[in-house]
Amino acid sequence: MLIDLHTHVNAPEHLIGTKFMEDCIRGGGRYEGMIADRERHFTEEMAQVDVACIMALDAPASGLVVPNEYCAAYQRDYPDRIVGFASVDPNRADAADGLKHAITELGLKGLKLGPIYQHFHPLDEKKAYPVYEMAQQLGIPILWHMGTSFVEKGPLEYTRPIHIDRVALDFPNLKQVIAHLGHPWEAETIVLIRKQPNVWADISALYYRPWQFYNSMVLAMEYKVTHKLFFGTDFPVTTPQQTIAGCMAVRRFGEGTGLPEIPASVFEDIIHRNPLEALGIRLG
Ligand SMILES: [Zn+2]
Repeated sequence: MLIDLHTHVNAPEHLIGTKFMEDCIRGGGRYEGMIADRERHFTEEMAQVDVACIMALDAPASGLVVPNEYCAAYQRDYPDRIVGFASVDPNRADAADGLKHAITELGLKGLKLGPIYQHFHPLDEKKAYPVYEMAQQLGIPILWHMGTSFVEKGPLEYTRPIHIDRVALDFPNLKQVIAHLGHPWEAETIVLIRKQPNVWADISALYYRPWQFYNSMVLAMEYKVTHKLFFGTDFPVTTPQQTIAGCMAVRRFGEGTGLPEIPASVFEDIIHRNPLEALGIRLG
């Protein structure tokens, strides 16, 4: 069973205004790759995995709003294969109520937040804490985009994984996942997931910076936290096959070079792990 914890469904109509489009183009020429409506997602992503988690994103500050309803409709059509994560913008006064609606009425099963896209500080007690409180009450996990991004206006300081330590201390029952190992602050994420029992990380969209990814995985082995890493792709940024091949490829740095070796089993365990069980998400 292959479960992809981190994928996106972005239709052209979810890009509001031109700012985000421009950023996509300038941020590495991957604009084409950023558009994947549910039809493309189903054809390409779902052909390679058994289950995929899809992310809504309420980020008007970055010109991208993927509605909860869009994700809920896709999940409703494939309840055994699609797990929808809601998103609410903590800058909205009714964000916590919006989350409650998305979970209890629409049936979504997690919350996606991205402070660099949504322009809020994770430790903003007035705006963000009511949302965490609601997520904890509802018993749903948060998947955080932490780490850098090409969007120009979102402050990098909002996206430091170390902030989530304080959130975990204040909401000990809240399950949280740091996407992309919080790159380029992988070390912050690694010490965070070692310390906090309810915080995990995913390895999505990292293999194409192979030297950095190799070093992060060696660090994760040294801190003995590889059992807290989940498989994800950030589709359409990468596909499952590309990510699996990319993981295995970084092992070359340790083969016959005198540098630390990453056993294949480390990646195999990550690929075969069931994040839904750990996060308390039930299919259907
Ligand atoms: Zn993502």
